[in-house]
Amino acid sequence: MTVDRSADHAMRFAEALGSFQDRSERLVGWIQLAIIAVFAALYFASPPALDASHAGFHPVPVALAFYTLFTIFKQIQAYRRSLPGWLISLSILIDMALLFALIWSFHLQYNQPPAFYLKAPTLLYVFIFIALRALRLEVFYVLLAGGLAVIGWLLLATYAATGTYDLLGATTRDYVVYMTSPRILWGAEIDKIIAIVMVTGILAVSVSRGRRLLLRERDASIELEDNQIEISNLAYRDGLTGLPNMVGLTETLKGAGTPHGLVVLELDDFRKRVAVLGKPFTDRLIEEVLGRMRERLTRTAVVARIGESEFAVLLPGVSALDDLRPIAEALLAALVAPVVIEGRSVVQTARTGLAIWTPEKMPLLSVIQDAQVATLRAGLPAAPRVMMFDDRMRAEEIAFGELEVELRAAIEHGVELAPHYQPIFQMETGALVGFEALARWSHPKRGLIPPGRFIPVAEATGLIVPLGNQILKTACRDLIRFDPTAAQGGKGVGLFMSVNLSARQLSDNKLLDRIGRALERTGVRPDRIKLELTESEATGALELAGGRLNDLKGLGVSLSIDDFGTGYSSLSYLHGLPFDVLKIDRSFVTGVAGSAQSRAVIRTIVDLARSFCLETVAEGIEDQDTLDNLRALGVGMVQGYHTGRPAPFDEAVRFLSGKT
Ligand code: C2E
Ligand code: MG
Ligand code: MG
Repeated sequence: MTVDRSADHAMRFAEALGSFQDRSERLVGWIQLAIIAVFAALYFASPPALDASHAGFHPVPVALAFYTLFTIFKQIQAYRRSLPGWLISLSILIDMALLFALIWSFHLQYNQPPAFYLKAPTLLYVFIFIALRALRLEVFYVLLAGGLAVIGWLLLATYAATGTYDLLGATTRDYVVYMTSPRILWGAEIDKIIAIVMVTGILAVSVSRGRRLLLRERDASIELEDNQIEISNLAYRDGLTGLPNMVGLTETLKGAGTPHGLVVLELDDFRKRVAVLGKPFTDRLIEEVLGRMRERLTRTAVVARIGESEFAVLLPGVSALDDLRPIAEALLAALVAPVVIEGRSVVQTARTGLAIWTPEKMPLLSVIQDAQVATLRAGLPAAPRVMMFDDRMRAEEIAFGELEVELRAAIEHGVELAPHYQPIFQMETGALVGFEALARWSHPKRGLIPPGRFIPVAEATGLIVPLGNQILKTACRDLIRFDPTAAQGGKGVGLFMSVNLSARQLSDNKLLDRIGRALERTGVRPDRIKLELTESEATGALELAGGRLNDLKGLGVSLSIDDFGTGYSSLSYLHGLPFDVLKIDRSFVTGVAGSAQSRAVIRTIVDLARSFCLETVAEGIEDQDTLDNLRALGVGMVQGYHTGRPAPFDEAVRFLSGKT
């Protein structure tokens, strides 16, 4: 692209120079005609005193006529087209020859030594003639004109010095003899030749300098233009894909008069992907995703990359959110099939937010923000993957921001956040075997806030790390209060404590230290702690090659896969990762009494767990019927409102005595 641009620039420069030279050439022609007119006037003003030997032949008018004709011919050529180099060289040659022929003809005409005519007017003309050649800005023509002038002058001077004159008229014989004596003549003419050489040299140097300066200017302006294009590319385009970026996208809508549908598509967990798989891999992933999106879009759609993992698609003429939905769904469907890069297969899921831009409505930027808010919403657990923006969302988003501030303060306080404990029972014996610690926030004004409200805020802001830490510490302490055998040195199989761990915590480098320290400080036996990771987080961990999980296992804790069955991932990872427990997601459990399909799913999961030597916990048992069904299916442990709701420590203690 740069090469094309430089060539283009060079061509424009050559064109500009060419047209300047053409204009100069025409000017030269007019000046020459004017000078010829002066010569003619000089000739016709003084009466022709013809030498007897030339009677009947008028060399001056003949030479003038030749010169005029040639100059007119050249001038016509110059007006019709750009003169080629050879014609210019030839014309310089002819001009010079004719000039000296003219002078010579004056000498013949008046029978005066040519030295007389070599004086002021001729010298002046020679200078003008050489200077005019500088107008083309080409050193060669200056040197050619100067060189020819020197040769011509030398020839004439030699002729004058060696000639003998049979003089007529006005000048005294002595003066003529004196003027034409070689000594004097040479002295005088050498001066002029030096002057011609000097003028030629100075002009040649200035033309060459000027030309070099021009070329440098041209190169600088090419570079400047390149830089400007580069800068505007940087400012308006994404470096990897060449797509417009946020600024570029807003530019495309300038002056648009019709509504546009806007789909913002955000790739899930992309940051984690980059951290785990590396940028070269994710760059290719982006290109692949983009290719698939393009296949589903019409030509009029404008695709922009507005963030590392965020695309915006503008669809001209789409003015209703309902018309936008199928397009967003098609885009998401395009991403379902795994992407294979360098033999590695990944599924890159995404979510979308939809909004409509209308010319009278507002700047595109705020519409993009609307759609982004909707994508945030689509990113919440269990939310639909296609979200349409509505005004309520914005208010809620503001509330989200407020929640963050308050959550930060609550974590610092340390008292508002405490876990509730939900009992987990052994199916076969009905014995209480453990608790799951579920974070609760006792907000001084808003009352008890469930984790569904604040965990996403905590995850999005990184507050999950200190929060998770707090919950873990409290849960460890409370476990020993539930069951003193859970302390170091304690014997036998006793109660365990399940603690939830989010992906964000998993990628925290200090996680191991933190957990190790929490265990140490509270004095709890690691084998009484089960860390729960949701399925998608567990698969994320697969990409970490299980290293992190093995490290965790190294601490002596057990690992559970939470919400099993909700991820889209392949089951093969079960084989490679050090999990101990599968927690069957509530969505399968709820329907188990009425749906053969749910039963089949659970049976499959139980079989799978068995073959991998994993324990099973069914979550969300709300009635006896469900419990009975799960028992029949061979589920190992149960947890649900039916068997025990999450409760603060003081209340949860009552589960120990079996009084529910
Ligand atoms: P989870 O780990 O799958 O926890 C189970 C959720 O199901 C809990 O919701 C629990 O109250 C609820 N549940 C239990 N039995 C039943 C039932 O019979 N019916 C119904 N409808 N629900 C039942 P909760 O406490 O609202 O927590 C929601 C999610 O928030 C948890 O899902 C977990 O992923 C997350 N969470 C809670 N505490 C923490 C925490 O300390 N750290 C992290 N990272 N996540 C947490
Ligand atoms: Mg859990
Ligand atoms: Mg769960």
